[in-house]
Amino acid sequence: MHTLSLRALADGLAQKKFSSVELTQHFLERIARFDSATTGGLNSFITVTPELALAQAAEADTRLANGNAHALTGIPLAQKDIFCSQGVRTSCGSKMLDSFISPYNAEVVTRCNDAGLVMLGKTNMDEFAMGSSNETSFYGNVQNPWDTSCVPGGSSGGSAAAVAARLAPAATGTDTGGSIRQPAALCNLTGLKPSYGRISRWGMIAFASSLDQAGPMTQSAEDAALLLQVVAGHDAKDSTSIDHPVPDYSASLNDSLKGLRIGLPKQFFGEGLNPEIATLIEAAIAELKKLGATVVEVDLPNSGLSVPAYYVIAPAECSSNLSRFDGVRFGHRCENPTDLEDLYKRSRAEGFGEEVRRRVMIGTYALSAGYYDAYYLQAQRVRRLIKQDFDQAFTQCDVILGPTAPEVAFALGAKKTDPVSMYLQDIYTIATNLAGLPGMSIPAGFSQGLPVGLQLIGPYWSEAKLLNVAHRYQGVTDWHTRIPAAFA
Ligand code: GLN
Repeated sequence: MHTLSLRALADGLAQKKFSSVELTQHFLERIARFDSATTGGLNSFITVTPELALAQAAEADTRLANGNAHALTGIPLAQKDIFCSQGVRTSCGSKMLDSFISPYNAEVVTRCNDAGLVMLGKTNMDEFAMGSSNETSFYGNVQNPWDTSCVPGGSSGGSAAAVAARLAPAATGTDTGGSIRQPAALCNLTGLKPSYGRISRWGMIAFASSLDQAGPMTQSAEDAALLLQVVAGHDAKDSTSIDHPVPDYSASLNDSLKGLRIGLPKQFFGEGLNPEIATLIEAAIAELKKLGATVVEVDLPNSGLSVPAYYVIAPAECSSNLSRFDGVRFGHRCENPTDLEDLYKRSRAEGFGEEVRRRVMIGTYALSAGYYDAYYLQAQRVRRLIKQDFDQAFTQCDVILGPTAPEVAFALGAKKTDPVSMYLQDIYTIATNLAGLPGMSIPAGFSQGLPVGLQLIGPYWSEAKLLNVAHRYQGVTDWHTRIPAAFA
């Protein structure tokens, strides 16, 4: 059952080949068998919720029997631990929230629940979603199922590892600078970061509010369309959620690619890209040409500035967002504070890990009087230029194609002490977030036995087009169906 896609699981449930309770039990057993960090497992879950899952599954079986089921009713799912889940610990990968039991559900969780999806648990992640390797989590690193000595990518590394090892058929992730796409690439998944404002951020713990966006992490584009359908759409509770019609994402999956103009940014194929990855991306382009697409070179002249601009804007926003964790209202509180200042300082110093503290300090500095114009405002100007580059490119092409990450999964620990080389993992993904655009990573082959991801970027609201291109590509390739041998 665990090798089946969402589509196949939905068919199996409808045809009564198995019940939701049986399906849920099967995945819970796999998690018990493969995930425990104490027995050398993947550590992809921070919290597993078997009682809740089995209760939801029983309810889903009733819905299926009564004929009022949604397309995905009864199918298990893993939620990134950044989404508030009522009555369940919501840690965001941090000691700061280790004991936080959320009193309410994030809108993403509510929509999944309403559709009848079954929550298996909450997945591991970089602390407050800051990282590209899942090594900044308070709960320890996650292993990549393709090579357990390697990182799964981050910050949605737990979600990626869980789905890659088929401990869950699909998962949610969030992407501020690449955290859905990069781990999807490193774990052989299909990951979609939608347009900013497509999915409600309500109850999704904020890292950098103008960049954060939730999205599906699945086995295929077809599955991503199904899960996106559940969570997309306006939410009055989130003032940055946009009231724009939600198309039927599955309806256009098979559209012809004849005449599709693919833009190849020269900046994405230069120095720093592993040559084996470049070769695989070229092979993918050849497949898309066979399907009728044409190729044009495009220029994103300011893309080299995206990482530096991001590392001013994201820390600035996080320093502001994370100021709420002060030891007073919720989250970690230090023992025996001598006065209010001591309470603030020690609670924060003890509750936050090294990477989070680094970012809060950089962000506070960039926002401080006298430096605001030089750093924050300047970075916002660069952001505008990056967006204009994309606007210009999309006059020449329908989608932009390139690599997702410059290299395959690297060894655990390899970059932990070198923040800059870690930050460069997102060199191809960050510009998309700065411009608010949708981006997607899909499996495109293997280098040294490790998965390689291909990235598609489109104009605002082009999720259906990206899914269509990805689905057609997946119709003529089988990379996305491969499962690591130890978890088959
Ligand atoms: N790796 C980037 C960072 O560390 C992006 C993280 C994300 O998308 N959440 O900030």
